[in-house]
Amino acid sequence: MYENESHYDSIVTIKFYSQPETVKSPKKIQTDRKKRNFLPLMTLIMLSAVYGCNNTNSSEVVKIEQTPAQKLPKTKVVTTFLPVYLFTKAVAGDVADVEILVKPGTEIHEYQGTPANVKAIATAKILVKNGLGLEEFLTDTIKNAENSQLIEIDASQGIQAINKSSPIDTTATGEHDHNHSSGNPHVWLDPVLAKQQVINIRNGLIAADTQNKVNYQANAAAYIQELDNLNQEFQQTIKKTPNCTFITFHDAFPYLAKRYQLKQVAVVEIPEKQLSPTDVQKVINTVKKYKVKALFSEPGLDNKLLTSISQDLGLTVRTLDSLETGDANPQYYFKAMKTNLETLATGCK
Ligand SMILES: [Zn+2]
Repeated sequence: MYENESHYDSIVTIKFYSQPETVKSPKKIQTDRKKRNFLPLMTLIMLSAVYGCNNTNSSEVVKIEQTPAQKLPKTKVVTTFLPVYLFTKAVAGDVADVEILVKPGTEIHEYQGTPANVKAIATAKILVKNGLGLEEFLTDTIKNAENSQLIEIDASQGIQAINKSSPIDTTATGEHDHNHSSGNPHVWLDPVLAKQQVINIRNGLIAADTQNKVNYQANAAAYIQELDNLNQEFQQTIKKTPNCTFITFHDAFPYLAKRYQLKQVAVVEIPEKQLSPTDVQKVINTVKKYKVKALFSEPGLDNKLLTSISQDLGLTVRTLDSLETGDANPQYYFKAMKTNLETLATGCK
């Protein structure tokens, strides 16, 4: 169909990362602070003392008072950013305290660690990260935390990363590129790879906190079932619009595209300043060259420029959620991904 059958070609790169209005205001993470369970420690010891050689009537019962109720501290798990938090929280349920280091709405790709992050890691037993080079801030933050007991779980362990292979036609120079040393990190946006991440997290939690194994297994199984269902929904819906070609404005969907035989042919990053007529022309040319059916923006992105381009092209700009911001409820993953599926189906018609 196309000369280049690669699922992912970066054609035009126009920067937007320093645009402050693209950042949503942080939402507060509701960490479960349910009442801790108090294990009733009724210790009843019966002592029989027999006095005399043949006297059976002189036995007495000594009841030792119960010790004060003891708190069983929950295992403290810190996670890096929203998708990893959602998966970890789903597996941990209520048996571990799960925290998030990078609040939703904060740009993960450029994130710098804070003293609060150092403190959180210093007192944690387990750290769960996405991996694939996404969390560059961790290197220094972990070092500063000086927690030699810390157990790290890499959620992307064993996942084959997609690397950028196509040349990028950049319209801005000297700025930070949306590049990652270990390939594209957005694996959580493919339900099948998300399942692998949940399995990695489950196995890591069980290894680090064996006494809650049964809970981790059961919680993970339920979440994995939902991920399997989601994968089936994607397969069934997207096969109705095969080989749909789309442009995104954030390099977040190559795994999803590969999984469901979609084609992410270009990534256009919006600049801080207005697009020049040349930039606009490049986007238009790209859309025509690849017969692009859909333009996908993301939540929180200022769409004025996109709207004007799309009007010229006769295409509607729709929103795909990369889940780097959103709700802290593990079910948010399914809600957002089902919305993404509807958006893809509509855009690809
Ligand atoms: Zn991203």
